[in-house]
Amino acid sequence: MAEETIFSKIISKEIPADVLYQDDLVTVFRDINPVAPTHVLIVPNKLIPTVNDIEPEDEVTLGRMLVVAKKIARDEGISDDGYRLIINCGDHGHQEVMHIHMHLVGGRPLGRMIKRET
Ligand code: AMP
Repeated sequence: MAEETIFSKIISKEIPADVLYQDDLVTVFRDINPVAPTHVLIVPNKLIPTVNDIEPEDEVTLGRMLVVAKKIARDEGISDDGYRLIINCGDHGHQEVMHIHMHLVGGRPLGRMIKRET
């Protein structure tokens, strides 16, 4: 069984967060340590630790994450200028919280996605 993280407690409202949206499949809240004017996390209510743990039955949930990302971007007023959606996985992806989450980051130019080594 996957171990619950702080995100499960935010989803179940056991601990507070700045929740922007919640439905039967996903919860959206502001990142506690934002890197841009808009930085929110779109999180499945079901505990899926990493992208490696996704099952075919999760397709609808994963699709909902993108549909909700579009809505939140619009609500935040950043749709036209653009933004970035990021899902980190594992050590090399620098995933810190083992409950899948999609970062929605925007509100300023973000530059290149990943720094080149050379
Ligand atoms: P990642 O490196 O993709 O696992 O990102 C984890 C993100 O969760 C980081 O950007 C953290 O700032 C954020 N985070 C950790 N704890 C909380 C919390 N209690 N409320 C909101 N965001 C959090």
